[in-house]
Parts: sequence; structure tokens; C-alpha cells
Amino acid sequence: MFRAGKLTVAVTALLALAGGFLGVSAAAANPSQAAVTGENYVIGTDTTFAPFEYREDGELTGIDMDLVRDIAANQGFTVEIKSLGFDAALQALQSNQVDGVIAGMSITDERELIFDFSDPYFDSGVQMAVAEDNTEITGYAGLAGETVVAKRGSEGETFANSIKDEYDFTVKALADSATMYDDVKAGNSVAVFDDYPVLAYGINQNNGLKSVTEKEQGSSYGFAVNKGQNPELLAAFNTGLAELKDNGDYQTILDTYLEQPAPAAASGFFGLLSDSMPALMKGLGLTLLATGLSILIALVLGVLFGFFTVSESRILRGIASVYVSIFRGTPLLVQAFFFYFGLPQLSGQSIDVLTAGVLTLSLNAGAYMTEIVRGGIQSVDPGQTEAGRSLGLGYVTTMRRVVLPQAVKIMTPSFINQFVMTLKDTSLLAVIGFAELTYQGQQIYAANFRTGETLLIVAALYFIVINLLTMLSNKLDKRFNK
Ligand code: GLN
Repeated sequence: MFRAGKLTVAVTALLALAGGFLGVSAAAANPSQAAVTGENYVIGTDTTFAPFEYREDGELTGIDMDLVRDIAANQGFTVEIKSLGFDAALQALQSNQVDGVIAGMSITDERELIFDFSDPYFDSGVQMAVAEDNTEITGYAGLAGETVVAKRGSEGETFANSIKDEYDFTVKALADSATMYDDVKAGNSVAVFDDYPVLAYGINQNNGLKSVTEKEQGSSYGFAVNKGQNPELLAAFNTGLAELKDNGDYQTILDTYLEQPAPAAASGFFGLLSDSMPALMKGLGLTLLATGLSILIALVLGVLFGFFTVSESRILRGIASVYVSIFRGTPLLVQAFFFYFGLPQLSGQSIDVLTAGVLTLSLNAGAYMTEIVRGGIQSVDPGQTEAGRSLGLGYVTTMRRVVLPQAVKIMTPSFINQFVMTLKDTSLLAVIGFAELTYQGQQIYAANFRTGETLLIVAALYFIVINLLTMLSNKLDKRFNK
């Protein structure tokens, strides 16, 4: 502990400022309890890992959530929790997009090389489950020639890979537990490897699976921070955990969630519809926000680079063609990962998910818009330009008065098309945890296991919105481009 005199405060603030600049935490040099007081930490977690983290009525709940919130309250800091998915949360931590991860995360030797872990707070282990009605597979020996599923980056995946040669099966990786269970129920894979408390909880909730093996010796769960970063947060977590164990809160939390609740009564389709609407509407709002911002920026980029492509300067044409080939020549998903996870790692500056998403979509759509603008301008008969010029009009006037009015008419349908594509492309941002419509849908079926119905609702919402917007754009097109 240090005394927070005025000078110390000023020095700490300066250090923090410099630290922020250099990408190192100033408190790293001085881990102390007081360092966390009043701080807000961003914590990444899995999308669905009941009873550790899952959603109930749209709210994140579970053992991990209660633990980290109670510890924060106990130690005088606050947390903002980001439900990213397990693998994505670990990546976000590595690129310092989050300060810590609590996600039923096992303390393993390999992970200890890149992360610092808290004291263990729960003992777990991997287990295998198959579809309820599967009578053929009763152990690893039955897996020969089959495909099993495990969570990307998880201990379950590592374990499955460690025995796959011996038992001759293939391991497929998916991002979250709900999708893995669906994969097994749909018969795409015959078994799932997941942590036993989570499997047991799901099975009790009638998720359609049954476990067929004993649990494997596994590691304990710990709270993780990036290696050498946020030591004060880790220290506070450990102190808070110890206090919660002493005052009985820790046991109460475990009892609350481990004492198996009765399976929720299934509400009909309309029940699901009305329950999920608030979250889906929030998601739709973000979808439209990201689309609107991206399209606006893309339009500016498209017009700018589009003019570059028809310019007389070789340099400008070169710049435009490099831009277009980069963004058209790489997948959107890779671009999204790059801007959200890659760039922060390279630059040391974290970037929020909306910015990363809009950056991705606008740069990508801008490349296509550039081509639309180029195509539009070039499709106007060169005779038109010549006619304009021979009437004595300058280049700019010919463009503005003769070429562009015709070009815009040609371009408009393609613009509308691009607009629709960008709107649909926002769904890809779910993988970086942007809480748009698809993401909200995933969160919902992760909690209720009603994947088919939820996806139908999500698809219907996209369909309605896209068709309404297309109708509107076509109307405007007719009105202004007669
Ligand atoms: N305990 C497992 C691991 O750390 C799985 C965690 C999870 O799926 N959230 O790899």
C-alpha cells in the first residue's frame, strides 16, 4: 500500500498516462489493492457455458458472473462484461481488448505461458456425451471412423485430439457449446467433448444429450489476465475470492447454480417470439446503425476512389487499384478479425467493436462502390464527353452536367444492391462479439437450445427489413432518376 498524497496522485496519474501511451500498465510496477479502487475493467467471457455463464431474460448470469461481480463489489472496482465466445475471449485478452477473462477457463501449462491466472476457484474435467437416443456409442471405442465435436481452443478439444489417433476419429471444432450440442443432435457429429459440470447441467435441462464416459482428470478454473498485465486486478481478484470463501458467499453462489433447477417449461413459438423480441430489436438497431455508418463512409470512399480510377493520373489510378484489390481480394471475415484482434496487437491500441466493425464494412463496401462508380462513369458513351467538350464545356462541367447525371442513373441499382449486401454482411461481425441481430439470436438459442425457431425469427427480421429498405430505395430511385 502506498499513501495517496497529492504528489503521489499526480505522479500516478502521469505514470498511468505514460503507461497508457506505451501500452503498459503503470500499476504493473506497483501492484497494490488501492490500485483497483474505482477502476472499471472489461472482462471477456464465453457466450454460453451454463451454469458458469449464460443468459436469463437477456441478462448474463451464472457462477462466473456472480463471482466476478461480487469480487468487484468487494474490492471496490466495477466490471463491464463482454460475452464474446470462449476462443474469441482468449484472443481478445491476448490483444488487450479486454482486461481479463472469466469463462470456466482451465488453468493449463500452455496457457500459463501467455496468461497469468488467479487462484483456482472450481475443479472440472472433460467428459463425452452423445445424443440421447444413441445406443451404439458407449465409450471412446465406438468412435472409430466417426466425427466428434469440441469447442475451439478448449481443453475438450485438446483432450479429443490427444486420443483421436488411438480411437481413429476426427475432431471438428465449433465456437460455442449450444452449437456443438445441436451438431450432435442433428447427427453431424456423433459425440461432444465438453466440461462435465456444463454437460451435466445441460443434460438436466433436457438438451437432448446423455453422457457416456467417466469424466477425465481436468484442470481447475481460474480467472486470467494477459501475462504481466493488470497484476493489480489479479491480486484484487485473489483477495476478493478469499474473502468470498471466508464469508460464505462463494458457497452460496455455487449452491444457487449447482442445485439443478427444474427444466424450464417450454413456451410455444409465440412465447419464444415475444420473449426474444426485446433483445432482437436491440440487435436490429445495432445492425442498422453499423450498416448506415458503413454505407455512408463507403459512399465517400467509393466516389473518391471511383474518380481516381478514371483520372488521368497514373498514381491516383494506382492507389485506387491497390485499394480495391486488397479489400476485394481478401475475405470480409479475415478483415474483421484483423481490425478487431490483429491491429490492436500490432499497434498496442485497443479498438472498440463498433469502430472495428464499421471500419471493416466501410472499407470493404468502399472497394465495391469504387468499382460501381468506375463502371457507371465508363459506361457513359465517350461520345457524350466529346460532345460536351466540343461545345466548349470544361472537363469538370462536362462531368457534372453531362456524364454524371447519366452515370448515377446506371449506378443506382448497384448501389442499392451493395447496401443490401452490407446490411447482410453485418451478421459476420457476430464473430467479433458485435451485439447485432445474428449475435443476439445466437445468445438466445445458446440459452434455450431452440436453434431452429430462433434462427427462423432472425432470418424473418432480416428479410422484412431488407425488403422494406429495397422497396424504399427503388421508390427513391424512380422518383429522382426518371
Ligand atoms: N474449461 C475449458 C477450457 O478452459 C472450457 C472452457 C469453456 O468452454 N468456456 O478449455
